[in-house]
Amino acid sequence: HENFARPARTRYLAVANQKGGVGKTTSSVNLAAAFAEAGMNVLVLDMDPQGNASTALGAEHGADTLSLYDVIEGRAQISEAIQVCPDFDNLDVVPSTIDLSGAELEIAGLDNRVYLLRDQLQKFIAESEKHYDYVIIDCPPSLGLLVLNSLCAVHEVIIPIQAEYYALEGLGQLLRTIQLVQKSMNRQLVISAIVITMYDRRTLLSQEVYQEVEQHYASLLLKTTIPRAVRISEAPSFAQSVIAYDSRGAGAIAYREAALEINKKSNNIFKLLDRLKKEQ
Ligand code: ADP
Ligand code: MG
Repeated sequence: HENFARPARTRYLAVANQKGGVGKTTSSVNLAAAFAEAGMNVLVLDMDPQGNASTALGAEHGADTLSLYDVIEGRAQISEAIQVCPDFDNLDVVPSTIDLSGAELEIAGLDNRVYLLRDQLQKFIAESEKHYDYVIIDCPPSLGLLVLNSLCAVHEVIIPIQAEYYALEGLGQLLRTIQLVQKSMNRQLVISAIVITMYDRRTLLSQEVYQEVEQHYASLLLKTTIPRAVRISEAPSFAQSVIAYDSRGAGAIAYREAALEINKKSNNIFKLLDRLKKEQ
C-alpha cells in the first residue's frame, strides 16, 4: 500500500447519482474498504434508507439500531450511532434503517433542513479523538432532501456511471443539481471523479460509454473502470466488501486502483477548494 498517501486533511466525499442500480453503494463500500486496507481512517455514512451499505460493511441496522435517521432528526449523535466494520478496525460506519425514508417529510419544514447532516458531522469531527482521512456518504437514488443534506455535508462528489444503454441519461440533471447546491448552499463543492461501473471490456457498448464520458468529462473520468464481476455482487450477501471477500479478484483490484487514483487527486482538490473558499 506504499502508493497511498494520507491526505493533508479530511476528504469528504458523497457518492451520488439519482439513478438506482448504477453502483453507488458498491463503490462507496469498496472505495472505503480499499482506503481502510491501505491504512486510512475511514467513516462511511449510509444515507440510503435501503441500508445496503450498512449490510455490505457488516453493520447492524435493525429496527432498534441507532442510525442516521436518529442523527438527522437530532435524537442521537453520530458518536452514539457509529459502529466498526468487522473486517477493518479503522473503518467506521453509521448505518441507516428503513425509518430514514420518513425523514425527508419530517424535516421538510425546518429552516436548516439541508444542513442537518453537515452540522451533526462537523460536531462529531470536532469532538472526535480520531482523525479521519476519508468520510464517504452513500447517497440514495434521488435528488431529494437526503441527497441535498449529503451534498451540503461534503466537499466532493463522486459519480458512478453504469456502462449501459442510456448511461448518460439524467447526468445533466445531476450536474445542474450539484451546481445549484454549489451556488446557494455549499460553495466548497466540486465533482472530483466519475467512475464507470459494471464495465465489460468485451462489449462495444462499454467502450462507447467510456469514450462518450471521456469526450465530455475527460478531467473527471477515472482511468480505472470497475469490471462487471460476480464476486462484486456476491460480497454483500456475506456482509463484506469485495476487498475483504475476494481480496485478489478483479473487482478488489479495480476498486483498489480507483481508490488510489482518487487518493492521488488530494492536493489538486484541496487547491481547488481553497480557491473556491477565497472567492466566497
Ligand atoms: P446503487 O447503489 O447505485 O443503487 P448498487 O451498488 O447497489 O447500486 O449496485 C446495483 C446492483 O448491481 C447490486 O446488486 C450490485 O451488487 C450490482 N453490482 C454493482 N457493481 C457491480 C459490478 N461491478 N459487477 C457486478 N455487479 C455489480
Ligand atoms: Mg445504493
